[in-house]
Amino acid sequence: VKRSGRGAAGVFCPEYSSVFDARRQAIDTVRAALRTDRVVAHYQPLICLHSGAYVGAEALVRLQTGDGGLLGPEQFWPAFADPECVRQLDEAVFERVLSDLAGWQAAGIETGVVSLNASRFWFQTKGFARRFVDALAARGIPAESLCVEVTESVLLNEDSRSVARALSILSEAGVSIALDDFGTGFASLTHLRDFPIDSIKIDRSFISGLGAKPENTVVVKAIVDLSRSLGMNTVAEGVETGAASEFLSAIGCSHAQGFLYARPMAPHAFAAHVSVSRAEMPLNWSI
Ligand code: C2E
Ligand code: MG
Ligand code: MG
Ligand code: MG
Repeated sequence: VKRSGRGAAGVFCPEYSSVFDARRQAIDTVRAALRTDRVVAHYQPLICLHSGAYVGAEALVRLQTGDGGLLGPEQFWPAFADPECVRQLDEAVFERVLSDLAGWQAAGIETGVVSLNASRFWFQTKGFARRFVDALAARGIPAESLCVEVTESVLLNEDSRSVARALSILSEAGVSIALDDFGTGFASLTHLRDFPIDSIKIDRSFISGLGAKPENTVVVKAIVDLSRSLGMNTVAEGVETGAASEFLSAIGCSHAQGFLYARPMAPHAFAAHVSVSRAEMPLNWSI
């Protein structure tokens, strides 16, 4: 391919050009949202499968469009390949979540443990873990009320010592660590042993296929047994049916998240949901 600048790419390789354009466009969308302060977090409740009680939530990034619409990650997915863009996006989401949490705390609303998704690029930013812990302290937010979700790709970073150090800083401060999308990457049992991981989130692809393929049942049960024997919680992602929920509960999966229980909600709707679930929680819910 002749190297003659941007415009020429489309002439020789149309597919490359459209991928490139899609990324450019997604990055522009994210940058515009960052500039105009339209990056927000929506919150999806997590429940305890033993009691059915609400225990916490996952913060998920959303971009507000000028016309009152909302974009989720699937609508700007190509931007997630751009390190600088993702770093800025993560920072903006963290800021949002911390300010939402500070507001709820001041209003006496108990949110349980709120999870944040941290990209692998965040882990390549020097000193981020310490800054994060300091930011919590500065706002008077207990570190125990936060969880950082990392994907297997974070643990597979070449500089595994700096990742381990960052996770230890978070963990020692009281922030819990969850391994997200478990089963889709290449993390090994060694990783589970070598990093301070508190819970494992089983990827939605295994949960949604529970009824369809017997192999999924075997894999999910193996993950639950493994994390239980390592003393970790297991969170099933993407639970949509009562049958899946019952199966997970029967095999000893501790927590779940999915449209069956609740969808991601805007902050005000989430605050209302939390207040109601806490008030309705039976005092002696038998297991
Ligand atoms: P994830 O961390 O695995 O988040 C769970 C995703 O599954 C969310 O999609 C959630 O809306 C969706 N989900 C939950 N329950 C169900 C269900 O029952 N059925 C179905 N079909 N889907 C369900 P969302 O919000 O579109 O986020 C997609 C991914 O984008 C996340 O996957 C995460 O990898 C990434 N992401 C989201 N927020 C952030 C962020 O602030 N920073 C970074 N770096 N990544 C983020
Ligand atoms: Mg997640
Ligand atoms: Mg996940
Ligand atoms: Mg997932």
